[in-house]
Amino acid sequence: MDQRWNMVSKTKRLLRRSLIGLVLMTGCGIAEAQTVVIHAGTLIATPGSPAKTNQSIVIDNGRITSIVDGFIPGDRIIDLSKRYVLPGLIDMHTHVVGMEKIDETAPSQWVTNLSLQRQSITALKAIPVVRQILLRGFTTIRNVGDPASVTYDLRDAIASGKVEGPRMLVSEPQFTLPGGALSNDVFHLTHDAVALVGNRGACSGVEDCRRAVREEVQRGADVIKLRLADTAALDPRIQTIESQDEVNAIVETAHQLGRTVAVHTSGVDRETLLAVNAGADTIEHGPQSDAVLLAMKRKGLSFTPTLDTYRYFAPILKRLGITRDYYGEARASVGAAKRIGVRILYGTDLMPLYADRESLEFSALVDAGLTPSEVLMAATINAAAALHMEKEIGSIAPGKAADIIAVDQDPTRDIQAMEKVSFVMRAGKVVAPQLGD
Ligand SMILES: [Zn+2]
Repeated sequence: MDQRWNMVSKTKRLLRRSLIGLVLMTGCGIAEAQTVVIHAGTLIATPGSPAKTNQSIVIDNGRITSIVDGFIPGDRIIDLSKRYVLPGLIDMHTHVVGMEKIDETAPSQWVTNLSLQRQSITALKAIPVVRQILLRGFTTIRNVGDPASVTYDLRDAIASGKVEGPRMLVSEPQFTLPGGALSNDVFHLTHDAVALVGNRGACSGVEDCRRAVREEVQRGADVIKLRLADTAALDPRIQTIESQDEVNAIVETAHQLGRTVAVHTSGVDRETLLAVNAGADTIEHGPQSDAVLLAMKRKGLSFTPTLDTYRYFAPILKRLGITRDYYGEARASVGAAKRIGVRILYGTDLMPLYADRESLEFSALVDAGLTPSEVLMAATINAAAALHMEKEIGSIAPGKAADIIAVDQDPTRDIQAMEKVSFVMRAGKVVAPQLGD
């Protein structure tokens, strides 16, 4: 009897505990439905426009409903009265399941190691990566091609609240023309390795490229990533595999299906101009010549220089015997893009290998000649415009998603303030600091 009674009371205790848990959880649910008011000491609602002091941001059901002068009461007050409040950041170029480590003695393994890993392991490893991205203040990322097929599911898991992370816009493959991109000078991929990393985006001929884009959009692509054939561009014997017609077909089909096209380039004008002429949307990496930048300006393309990645890889490329000063040239093309008036976007080329550098692109772009305000624009309203999502994200304004961050120092004076984001709200939910922080 005693034993039985013990079991019953134990069950009751457990039940009571879980009931308390349930009540607490429901309590949180009610709190979320209440009007939340952020008291912003300095509000940089739209980077590039003047900041305002002592503002209240009213949030209801994950959306910003109004911005009011002075500090007003609300069901729940979030006190950021001593801080600088900005819209959630947008990283336009990530690879959340990209390279984890590199062995400089075997560059050909950089990509293949990942392809050989089980997809479930790849997906599990990505969960802390996306969480960290969010905690750094990036509430939206554009993830453009990984050597695995897990990022559509990861995006959907985040959207449904199963995994904590930023809003993701994804292209799983990188579209290439067969024989090109991944057999470049750095990777020296063997024939077998090319087959392993061979991706769904490989297409040849206009009709085949149209088919490949349509299939990928059906599979779940938010954006199409085109990786131009580096080697082909450098080697005149195989230049026929990259034709203007094929690139046009990819861009045209993507646009018909309401998708933008992000184009990986590698500092070869002839290949980059194929994408510019085709009317793609964003040109990734560099360096870019003035001729390319002028053409981009004319056609309205944006530029994601991913400058800090060049800074990171500069000594490594040197040790691998690559003499071209990509970092120096890429840095100069950021200054040229500013002068010519090309819209510049914040993109880090983030990979697990150097994910902790995600916020260093801020100082890299300032070093290259942008003002702190221009860099903040690159990571907010400029990026939102390039994504055609300016109604949803990119600034703090009524009707937009409540993606809001705060830093302790004035980032328009010292951009390094962006390296220590102390508050993150994503769609009205406070992600950082967490309870007990
Ligand atoms: Zn990349």
